[in-house]
Amino acid sequence: MAEIRVENVQKSFGAFTAVKGSTFTIENGEFFVMLGPSGCGKTTTLRMIAGLELPTAGKILLGGEDVTFNRAAARDIAFVFQLFALYPHMNVRQNIGFPLKCQGMASKEIRQAVEEAAKLLRIDHLLDRSVTGLAGGDRQRVALGRCIVRRPKAFLMDEPLGTLDTEFRDLMVRELRELHNRIGATTVYVTHDQLEAMAMADKIAVMNHGVIEQFGRPQEIYDRPATMFVADFLGSPPMNFLAFRGAVAPGQRSVRIGEAELAVPELREGQSEGELALGVRPEHIRLDDASPFRGAVFGAEYLGTTQIVTLDTAYGQVKARLPADRNVKAGETVGLAFRSERLSLFDKTSGRALR
Ligand code: ATP
Repeated sequence: MAEIRVENVQKSFGAFTAVKGSTFTIENGEFFVMLGPSGCGKTTTLRMIAGLELPTAGKILLGGEDVTFNRAAARDIAFVFQLFALYPHMNVRQNIGFPLKCQGMASKEIRQAVEEAAKLLRIDHLLDRSVTGLAGGDRQRVALGRCIVRRPKAFLMDEPLGTLDTEFRDLMVRELRELHNRIGATTVYVTHDQLEAMAMADKIAVMNHGVIEQFGRPQEIYDRPATMFVADFLGSPPMNFLAFRGAVAPGQRSVRIGEAELAVPELREGQSEGELALGVRPEHIRLDDASPFRGAVFGAEYLGTTQIVTLDTAYGQVKARLPADRNVKAGETVGLAFRSERLSLFDKTSGRALR
């Protein structure tokens, strides 16, 4: 097990810079997720940690040791490309033990390591079965067994659930997280799926155009997004932005948007004037006839216990998550109230949160 430190790491391919100076520390035993849209530099960062790509500048430290120029094989890190391919002509025991056999480990030790891995995954009763007859979930566990049997210092996983259908994906998200709780190995996991990231991560780095926009615990990132990009990338539907012109200064506890004076968390440092945006999550909106902040119902999407209601306001379209039994009619004008302690304010020009 090991702490991973990425220090001012950059990677250019010719004139194009894919990673623009990332710095972060993944603590020993942490499940760390790199999240971002396609092309933002997640895989390139992961490959540099693995030793499959050399940084153009910066350092990679593993357990305090500078491994920037160490070969991948010398790093004792397992890079999981494809979780799900098994050798059909081998039984479960042989499949799990295969990486150790390749390393030339003695068969008695292989037997012991395989049995330990199988116990962790609760498939020890299947060890002598053929993999071809196994149910889907058990096949995935065998594949995981093959990854953990080497007991590497850390696991790196690049969209390992990418090809699975939704049902299996949900199962494997839970399985991977539970396995992590049991073995506690440092894990770096790359995905563009925010739900996967939120469900699994101890910490998340949200990347965009080669830059880490925010690094922190899932709840911190969701509740206090550092940028409009992060606010928009997390949540479904994502955060709403009400665009307005105004001025804010430290100490301020409210903003005026048209007729409405809206309470906001006290601003401590940000100061800005001009194009601003008030960020509000759909679940922090309720209907309130007395509110001067008005919206016209555009439509509603029924989701069982809740509904997503789309409203047109003078400051842009807004989506609100309301109880499913709240009757709303298209065209109806309603008052909107916001949970003030959960609002975010952004400088719309820089996209940065004002706090
Ligand atoms: P995806 O999920 O699509 O893989 P990503 O966030 O993992 O996205 P990267 O694969 O790290 O993104 O790629 C970042 C950028 O660097 C992309 O624009 C990609 O085209 C570019 N890139 C990656 N590898 C190379 C390479 N070997 N040569 C040139 N450009 C590259």
